[in-house]
Amino acid sequence: MKENFLGVDVCNYNYDELASLLIQDIEKKKKSFIVAINPEKIMKAQKDEELKKLLNSADYQIPDGIGVILASKLKGGKIKNRVTGIDMMLKLCQVAAAKGKRIFMYGGKPGVAEAAKKELEKQFPGIQIVGTLHGYEKDESVILETINRHQPEILFVALGSPTQEYWIVNHMKKVTPYVFQGVGGSFDVISGNLKRAPEFFQSLGLEWFYRLVKEPWRWKRQLILPMFLVKTLRK
Ligand code: UDP
Repeated sequence: MKENFLGVDVCNYNYDELASLLIQDIEKKKKSFIVAINPEKIMKAQKDEELKKLLNSADYQIPDGIGVILASKLKGGKIKNRVTGIDMMLKLCQVAAAKGKRIFMYGGKPGVAEAAKKELEKQFPGIQIVGTLHGYEKDESVILETINRHQPEILFVALGSPTQEYWIVNHMKKVTPYVFQGVGGSFDVISGNLKRAPEFFQSLGLEWFYRLVKEPWRWKRQLILPMFLVKTLRK
């Protein structure tokens, strides 16, 4: 079911398939971890064996970013649609609300997770977001105790990459949730602090172009996409 790009695995599930697998994991009390894969992370993993191992140790690597879709096409693979970190998080919120699963939101600047929680409660009536904690708390015992006190089953971790992924693998056995997802800047977007590209750009897979125009200083980071595609083709 997984395809491999320059040594990094990526799953071929859509939002609904993955959401139902995650609910099954919770019901079976099985711990699982979702990581969003994009060309930037794959290229970084070329020079960082530990990061590559970490990405491959996740249960579900989702194809976030048009680069992975293009690479799959170039290699005759089957991954046709993006599964973005933020949309997967929203899908999981929707399914968790319907199934009564408890969510905890950890990360972001003080107040951001709380604001995002309020938005999610508007969007998904009945959702059980049992707690939030900002991402600048340094005392590990406070972090673990705050999460565990609320007995969540799903944990969204928004500390940026790869900090959040390392945090998840190092702590997943010490906290109550079964499903863990690293969600980067998603709390900032959901709370309204950060604007996402308009639907038009998203649907065409041109979010990167929108960001390039809005934040031209990112151009260097965006050279990674063509470099990644060339490298994939050469392999
Ligand atoms: N963040 C945090 N604690 C930290 C560093 C960052 O909670 O020590 C949060 C930050 O507030 C932001 C999120 O991590 O909401 C994601 O950061 P960024 O957008 O840089 O990460 P990316 O999504 O690019 O991996």
